[in-house]
Amino acid sequence: MDQGRIAELRDLPVPPARHLIDGAPVAASDGGEMEVRSPLNGAVLTRMAKGTRADADSAVAAARRAFDGGVWAGLAPSARKAVMLKWADLIERNALELAVLGVRENGTEIGMALKAEPMSAAATIRYYAESIDKLYGEIAPTAPGTLGLVHREPAGVVGAIVPWNFPLMIGAWKLGPALAAGCSVVLKPAETASLTLLRIAELALEAGLPDGVLNVVTGPGSDVGAAIAESMDVDVLVFTGSGPTGRRLLEASARSNLKRVYLELGGKSPNIVFADAPDLDEAVKVAANGIFRNAGQVCIAGSRLLVERSIHDTFVEKLAAFTETMKVGDPLDPGTACGAVNSQAQLERNLAFVEEARAQGRTIATGGSRILTETGGYFMAPTVVTGVQPDDRIVREEVFGPVLAVQAFDTEDEAVALANGTDYGLAAAVWTADLSRAHRMVRRIRAGLVHVNTYGGSDLTVPLGGVGQSGNGHDKSLHAFDKYLDLKTAWIKL
Ligand code: NAD
Repeated sequence: MDQGRIAELRDLPVPPARHLIDGAPVAASDGGEMEVRSPLNGAVLTRMAKGTRADADSAVAAARRAFDGGVWAGLAPSARKAVMLKWADLIERNALELAVLGVRENGTEIGMALKAEPMSAAATIRYYAESIDKLYGEIAPTAPGTLGLVHREPAGVVGAIVPWNFPLMIGAWKLGPALAAGCSVVLKPAETASLTLLRIAELALEAGLPDGVLNVVTGPGSDVGAAIAESMDVDVLVFTGSGPTGRRLLEASARSNLKRVYLELGGKSPNIVFADAPDLDEAVKVAANGIFRNAGQVCIAGSRLLVERSIHDTFVEKLAAFTETMKVGDPLDPGTACGAVNSQAQLERNLAFVEEARAQGRTIATGGSRILTETGGYFMAPTVVTGVQPDDRIVREEVFGPVLAVQAFDTEDEAVALANGTDYGLAAAVWTADLSRAHRMVRRIRAGLVHVNTYGGSDLTVPLGGVGQSGNGHDKSLHAFDKYLDLKTAWIKL
């Protein structure tokens, strides 16, 4: 990593940001702006347009015109592919600038940010660009005298509402397949992570994406996001974020045009370690990284650790010791393992969960407090809480911070019951050397993604989505196209 360049970029002034609507930067319709604060020091980084409902409506109208005019949907798939490949190259060429800007805005460690944000976004856009001219329709096995053709057509205008933890990665999971499919998009980034998405949308224009095909509107979810969700002209709504917002989007769909709504929501993912795990030291390291990287702000974070009782005390001891070696602090220092919490509000929420556990008499094995206050930044010591009970809030609810709740179990059945004991079902992991047990556990755990002897790192080739209150849609893999392509049947008498 070019540390000299990072040092240059870290203090560059960031110009005020405007929406990108119909191919041009646009101020909020009422001239409103909001501050963008850096979690690294709590200071104002820049200002951005505080979008209104009117702004969202104008972006939807631009997307509608672009879609109905066929400027993108009407191109050959290979032509869309060419533009998107160029776009991916531009993102990659600007990767370090994008990564540093993103870190200054949302606090992820630079090593992770570079890989998981611009580089992963470029790879995702390339993957869907490369796929779109290899997807075929179907000819149905009909009786002689009839012909049944199944076409896959772009679904129309897509509203995409995304969160702050990995804006480029998650944004690209929506934009890649939606744009490759030929849809037009109105993207609503999170209030605390908009700048890099605006920048890659500019790069899309530079790559040749026609005006109006990708629009970005910044500002409060309660105005901009709600207007997109309620719009009669949005055909598909894709969302990554919290459960309460997801519920509002379903209601908005029901009240408006019954647009399809795909939700990727939170998790409380269990990381289950059996005494026969092949390498306990590796399990300790991976468990800590699986919850503490990006300050725990990872949807699939392994936020519950279930350990077989015979190894519980040793495991917790090793885990606390390893956790204390993880460097917390300046996310632009490549040696940092755990960066800043995204906002003051999130930091306060994390600490409130820990205080509640403390008040309930649970044990804080390590961490438990805000640190590095002298920086003005939002830093929290990675925290391990033991002795928690199945009904504790820290076990049932998503903290979305560097907080790990540890439980002991005696049998496989008990591990399954504890693992499946929340409303969520996003991810899980099982650590065991017993192949049969591993497969049994994969089947019995209620989650969209079950790791075995690892945590995280699943690539683009496999889908990511939850069950239960973790949502209903899938990002990644060719399955993601299903959200953006409608089936149309042609039934022909020969
Ligand atoms: P959030 O729901 O508060 O916000 C997400 C987005 O929704 C933001 O852009 C926000 O502005 C917008 N929004 C807020 N209120 C809205 C409303 N009334 N109408 C329309 N839009 C509205 O979530 P967050 O705090 O930004 O993100 C954290 C959550 O995201 C966590 O629960 C995390 O688990 C989840 N997440 C899930 C995945 C996944 O793949 N399942 C990935 C990353 C994050």
